[in-house]
Amino acid sequence: MLDLGRYKNLTAFNAAVFTAGGPDTFIGFQSDTLEVAHLTRDVFESLAKVSLKSVLEPQTLLSTAVRENIQELNEWSQQSTLAPLEKKAKTSFKAKSLNINVTQICNLKCTYCAAGGDGTYGDPVKRIEVEKTLPQLKYFLAKLDEGERFHISFLGGEPLLFPSGVRAICEYVSGQANEKGFVPSYKITTNGTIMNDEIMDLLTTYKPTMVISMDGKPEIIDRFRPQKNNKPTSRAIEKTLETLNERRLEIGPLAVHAVFTAQHTAVRETYEYFRAFNFDWIDFIYSVSDENEEANAQYMNEVAKTAERAWLLGGEQELRKIYLFDNYFDRLDSQERLENHCGLGKSFAVIDSRNQIFNCPWTVGQAENRLGQGQWMDEAKLADYDETVIERNRCQPCWAKYMCGGGCSFVHQTTSKSDTLKKSLQFCERTRFLTALSIYYYAKARVESDL
Ligand code: SF4
Ligand code: SF4
Repeated sequence: MLDLGRYKNLTAFNAAVFTAGGPDTFIGFQSDTLEVAHLTRDVFESLAKVSLKSVLEPQTLLSTAVRENIQELNEWSQQSTLAPLEKKAKTSFKAKSLNINVTQICNLKCTYCAAGGDGTYGDPVKRIEVEKTLPQLKYFLAKLDEGERFHISFLGGEPLLFPSGVRAICEYVSGQANEKGFVPSYKITTNGTIMNDEIMDLLTTYKPTMVISMDGKPEIIDRFRPQKNNKPTSRAIEKTLETLNERRLEIGPLAVHAVFTAQHTAVRETYEYFRAFNFDWIDFIYSVSDENEEANAQYMNEVAKTAERAWLLGGEQELRKIYLFDNYFDRLDSQERLENHCGLGKSFAVIDSRNQIFNCPWTVGQAENRLGQGQWMDEAKLADYDETVIERNRCQPCWAKYMCGGGCSFVHQTTSKSDTLKKSLQFCERTRFLTALSIYYYAKARVESDL
């Protein structure tokens, strides 16, 4: 259990829990400036103890015996090298990142599939009609300014069942980018079981990031991500990875995305298996729908063990191959406060096989989360997203808010059932633990300790 203390906007913890037999190490974090510092035991012990699940913000120190700390802590608490966040004007939707479900059909039947267990989201329309998607893209691209980034993520179903559709979209967007001067990037999230010359040509031409969905060692893959006829898939995925590694210099980045659940929390073992494939980055996430106290604790512990191993293997460089740490290191370096966990209703949308526009990959097909159709956006619906995600999810008292950005609204809604404003406590506990873990390694990498 993480020993955590708070005083106003300062949070501190004892990082001993993050390493096996590690010494007491006290790290402080200022939530508004995102500054990190080493603290003495004396200062740490003057803070009121809070739990990882709590958002209490104590305004006093614990005892008068440590009152001399108060001036130092007050100074740090009030310090701000950053301009205050400005209240933003009402947002009008501007897509900077689109997910396109080029297919809604899949050759696997993963046990936790976001798309209804068969890639279809329950929709009989199996793939996009490119001739309808290009005018829709034109509408979004027209809003981009020169130099602006624009990202397309191809999803499914399995997007590589329709490589010519992916290619047509890349060709169109890259052509528009040359004309208008915006900067496109592409990502394909695939189950990794399909590879052929047509796909390889797509990868060497447009160099999308290839993200392989793969949750662990072969026995885990075969258990949770089988073919429709229940046959194993791990060998086909390994073969694809061999092929991709042979052509590594000609293609874009190669990454892996692993989902953990109550049935599978072996993060460290998964990390060891992944190392053989030399991925550019590794993304570990915990299932958006799972609520299991014990598994949540195991997952946090496993990520801490994995971070320790990565650090021993290659310090910051190796640790930052894990997306979570890379992302948090960037945020702490830039001290840029994150107000929106994702672009929900603001800068991100999902286009389904009927060219309907949804707010999140997990809500495709739900009428209440539909933001538009074709080149029409539902302005009344978009007005619901004026607040930042932090405001929307009532995250103001949370010490990790500017690292987390208010969390995944879908997780909060799914796990708290009817009350959409009630947050998932397990998500919050996990996020705060992983934030503290990242802060600890950031302190190790960046902050000199003269204590
Ligand atoms: S969702 Fe994120 S920002 Fe909001 S309370 Fe939970 S951890 Fe904090
Ligand atoms: S709400 Fe959650 S799942 Fe949906 S887009 Fe945002 S981060 Fe992703």
